[in-house]
Amino acid sequence: MARQGELPISVAPAARARPPPSAPVNGPCGAVAVARPVRGEFTYRVPEAMAASLRPGHRVSVPFGRGTSLGFYLGPADEPEVGSEVVLKPIIRLLDPEPALPEDLIALLRFAAHHYRYPLGEAIRAALPPGLTDAEASKEAAPDAVLYAVAAPGADASVLARAPAQAAALSYLLAVGGRATVEEIVTAIPGARATLKKLAERGLVSLESVEVKAGVKAGLGQERPERLTKEQAVAVGELTAAVDQGGFHPFLLHGVTGSGKTEVYLRAVEHALAKGKGGLILVPEIALTPQLVGRFRSRFGSGVAVLHSALKDRERLRHWQALRRGDVRIAVGVRSAVFAPVQGLGVVVVDEEHDSSFKQEEKLRYQARDLAVVRAKQCGAVVVLGSATPSLETLENARRGRYRKLEMRARVDDRPLPRVELVDLREARPREPDLSTEPPILSPPLTDALEDTLRRGQQAILFLNRRGHSTFLVCEVCGLQVRCDACDVSLTHHLSARRLMCHYCGQTWPVPDTCADCGGPLLKLGVGTEKVVAEVAERFPRARVERLDRDSATSAERLTELLASFARREVDVLVGTQMVAKGHDFPGVTLVCVVMADTSLALPDFRAAERTFQLLTQVSGRAGRGRDEGRVLIQTYNPDAPPVRRVVLHDFEGFAEKELDWRRRFAYPPYARMVGVRVDGTDPEQVRQVARKLADLCAARLPAASQGVRLLGPAPSPISRIKGRYRWQLLIKGPTHAAMAPLADALERALVEVPAAVRVVIDVDPGAML
Ligand code: ADP
Ligand code: ZN
Repeated sequence: MARQGELPISVAPAARARPPPSAPVNGPCGAVAVARPVRGEFTYRVPEAMAASLRPGHRVSVPFGRGTSLGFYLGPADEPEVGSEVVLKPIIRLLDPEPALPEDLIALLRFAAHHYRYPLGEAIRAALPPGLTDAEASKEAAPDAVLYAVAAPGADASVLARAPAQAAALSYLLAVGGRATVEEIVTAIPGARATLKKLAERGLVSLESVEVKAGVKAGLGQERPERLTKEQAVAVGELTAAVDQGGFHPFLLHGVTGSGKTEVYLRAVEHALAKGKGGLILVPEIALTPQLVGRFRSRFGSGVAVLHSALKDRERLRHWQALRRGDVRIAVGVRSAVFAPVQGLGVVVVDEEHDSSFKQEEKLRYQARDLAVVRAKQCGAVVVLGSATPSLETLENARRGRYRKLEMRARVDDRPLPRVELVDLREARPREPDLSTEPPILSPPLTDALEDTLRRGQQAILFLNRRGHSTFLVCEVCGLQVRCDACDVSLTHHLSARRLMCHYCGQTWPVPDTCADCGGPLLKLGVGTEKVVAEVAERFPRARVERLDRDSATSAERLTELLASFARREVDVLVGTQMVAKGHDFPGVTLVCVVMADTSLALPDFRAAERTFQLLTQVSGRAGRGRDEGRVLIQTYNPDAPPVRRVVLHDFEGFAEKELDWRRRFAYPPYARMVGVRVDGTDPEQVRQVARKLADLCAARLPAASQGVRLLGPAPSPISRIKGRYRWQLLIKGPTHAAMAPLADALERALVEVPAAVRVVIDVDPGAML
């Protein structure tokens, strides 16, 4: 996070020095973004010897302050005014033969740095892969070849009894079919690289280097449906025509769950590729969407670079360089892939465009979906934003004719959408006063539906957006809640870990037996996924139940394995948080239960209703994707809440209509723009004062420049303390970013005066209000 004290906005460009008595002429000059937390671009002199080879996007080393720094050459700059007598310092060194950044990315990052009010050099550095982020000459990443270990015919690990390490490596290799990449084996058995060499010397294994040829199909030839549905065909027709025509064409692909959006993306990218263009596909989370990635891999083989957060530095660099050279023309990745150097971009896809993971919540706080559209516009490409529940921002753009809307209302093979029913938890409460006052976790209708599903050998998903066992502990005598000492939240009891855990700072504690204050007994209330699993296991002892949340999916491998075993139908009931709601395609699932729809409704956020509608629709969409019809049961205390009612009716339009009316009336996005200012620090009084001062500064400028710009706050954030830091916020709302710019500029300038112990972050187009 950019620290306050590190943002000397008004710093004098370090490249400028006092002129010596007889100032020489500067000659050609260049604009450079310095990879330091400083705003603005800097002008340096371009040495004559460098002038011929220097191109925009080149990494350079430049004098900065008292030392040198990594910089990015942006292009020629004007010489300082005649008579200003400023002598510029020269660029010292060119770090690579070829520019690391293509020109379209320079334009995109310039836009992002400006829009999100973040130092350009830092933004560029964050977009680059490791290996290009310090002022060192880059090394070519490992060649695009993969080293395979292949077991010799008849090789037998039992002859290696006296070399256990070699025996283990060989056994592993034989167990996976006699052939595996060295990388894979080393991941499974640390240190196996040397062992494999020894096995090779003994002739038990051969090591083969296989070159990864770009564009060569993997030859897996997995399901490419012969026929598109009518709606798919129309959508594909429009997209390919737009690619042919060239230039910027933004689309919203609004297709119900199971309508086959992925196939539409694949065809659009195929077409772009055939035209010699590239494709960029953004997805919310790779580990949660292995099927989509799998479809791209099987269609395009090694012609696709998959960019996710678990990549090793070396792989990330290799992908970057392969894309940069144009050897690989398709990139599939999470939000940061919006900066992937795909050449000759023809099609950009943002799948599940409504997903909040596209907003980065630290450093450069960008919205990747928005930047994807900007990028497509800047380089003249087709962009497709796809979802069953488009964000209201995107929907409004379609309604105003800025985006062309493609609709797919039917599921593939005319499978019906699942039947959605509500269970009113108010009625399910036990009536006898001497019984527990908590309603059952699984109401009778839900239990019946589960029993039915299990009896038919089908699968069920139970969704609850809360981890842990009990979500709060409260003293039966004095009513005291057990809370985190660093954060303003109550602690969750995690039964399997036998700890209390804070979900904001991650601290854990042993589970107390009694109230720390009065010694009274503690009640464990509130339901998390662990408690649901326990309940299902108790009611259905023969069912195979697994949990999918951040506690159970401890690594990407574990997550993939969990999803795979559910897909192989080794699990009957999957209980989980929103991780189960993503784009999974499990044909065996016929029942989806929402244990409690109310958790997201009550969030103090203007998007609470929208998020609830999206979550409920997405998770419902997991039901009935195969041969058998799907059914959805939603337990709730708010059966009349609009997002709940509209999900039952599969009525996105109706929901959106009402919600947009409300947003218009109260001037929220998409009818207004917002800038959040978040202030935090360890001294509550100091934080309050800074927030107050920044608000006063804004207020003082409002009457003159108001143009419908309004100030909300300052106020303590809904979660008033996290990790020992007190939090306040301030919101600016305005009709356009331009109308808010003078205020935001003033805020940025004021940041230098904020005491170093307080952190202030400007969050443009904020995602969450917590
Ligand atoms: P969505 O992303 O819209 O929810 P998917 O892209 O996951 O839907 O597609 C749902 C299922 O339908 C997948 O199993 C996919 O392989 C299959 N499918 C897609 N298009 C066709 C088609 N034209 N013919 C047959 N099956 C298809
Ligand atoms: Zn905490």
